[in-house]
Amino acid sequence: MKREDVKKLDQLDELHQYKEEFYTHPGIYYMDGNSLGLLSKRAEQTLLTSLNDWKQHGIEGWTDGQQPWYYMSEQIGEQTAPLIGAKAHEVINTGSITTNIHQLLATFYKPKGSRTKILADALNFPSDIYALKSQLELHNLNPADHLIQITSEDGYTIQEEDIIEAMNNDIALLLLPSVLYRSGQLLDIERITKAAHQHNIIVGFDLAHSIGALPHHLHEWDVDFAVWCTYKYLNSGPGGVGGLFVHENHLGRKPGLAGWFSSSKEKQFDMEHELTPADSAGAFQIGTPHILSSAPLLGSLEIFHEAGIEKIRNKSLQLTQLLMDLIKEHLTSYDFRMANPIENHRRGGHVSLVHPEAASICKALKHEGVIPDFRDPNVIRLAPIALYVSFEDVYDVVLKLKDIMENKKQQQYSNQRGTIA
Ligand SMILES: *Cc1c(COP(=O)(O)O)cnc(C)c1O
Repeated sequence: MKREDVKKLDQLDELHQYKEEFYTHPGIYYMDGNSLGLLSKRAEQTLLTSLNDWKQHGIEGWTDGQQPWYYMSEQIGEQTAPLIGAKAHEVINTGSITTNIHQLLATFYKPKGSRTKILADALNFPSDIYALKSQLELHNLNPADHLIQITSEDGYTIQEEDIIEAMNNDIALLLLPSVLYRSGQLLDIERITKAAHQHNIIVGFDLAHSIGALPHHLHEWDVDFAVWCTYKYLNSGPGGVGGLFVHENHLGRKPGLAGWFSSSKEKQFDMEHELTPADSAGAFQIGTPHILSSAPLLGSLEIFHEAGIEKIRNKSLQLTQLLMDLIKEHLTSYDFRMANPIENHRRGGHVSLVHPEAASICKALKHEGVIPDFRDPNVIRLAPIALYVSFEDVYDVVLKLKDIMENKKQQQYSNQRGTIA
């Protein structure tokens, strides 16, 4: 593939103008938007508006600001709903992935009789597993025999058949990632949900690596709950407030962990000691919303609305396909292995390269202006983000990687990860 062919892809790209909306830097190839998305000008603007509301209105900013704080979590929920195929009242902006898992397990995990186990996988992000184990321990159940983790044959992917085979009437709830964070494998949410419901298992998904990267139909698929963060593909900024989905079928239920923001908004300031929970996903909020870490989403989500998640997914698939094709063309002789599934319907938004010198190669890439990320023990993740990475950027990244390998530039660095990999 020649540079000219790749440039043509950029000329045909309907989303190319969005790159200018983001703070990118000349000579820097940012391939880590699946860990921390870049700042857009619109996200910056809505954050500044919230600061200005505080400056101008003080306490009145809750209701009288340009972006009233009292309704912001619901408003962001409404803006997020189309990205996951949810109804507006099924979604709320709140907490983080980990705190939202705790909230939704406190709400939905009710071990009873012999139905006491939780189904998960052996490759999930540690925080999800820590949360599941501590929830079991809160019920005086031993994680060693109550947390069932589906194992992986190749160390990078999970077979859906294995998940489905492990389902039985001892399992109360399952929590799985939509896209596995290391390999980028996309699981078939609809199929897993259907199978789980045949056993009356409550189904939860962690959308950390799929929200903002690809469309979902959570309502239609009958998923019971979902959680996500917003600082990855949704570009809300470091520590940006996360979100959760609770299916309409379960709304009206009391939150497992209650607080005054779980309240129906009309009743909240009656200050009664008997909670009247909101009849929306808002009931799963606990305390005062983190306004300054939510406000960037108001602007950021506008971009997703305008660009359209289907178009974003199409471009993302084209970008990752190009990346895989170029890797095959230029790097086969250098001992790289692709850990992500190659089929469109089985991969998320990043390509996952396995190499014994992955840590030192990542350092060499950074030195050349390419920002990848490294995941222990040997994975290089490259995420060409549809909104701000061009096809030509992908081309440059592969040529830079080839140059590193040809000239053994990685050997100047230790093959150890940094504190934040
Ligand atoms: C990024 C990520 C997290 C991080 O959780 P926070 O509570 O937002 O810090 C958790 N789980 C998965 C699968 C992730 O990818």
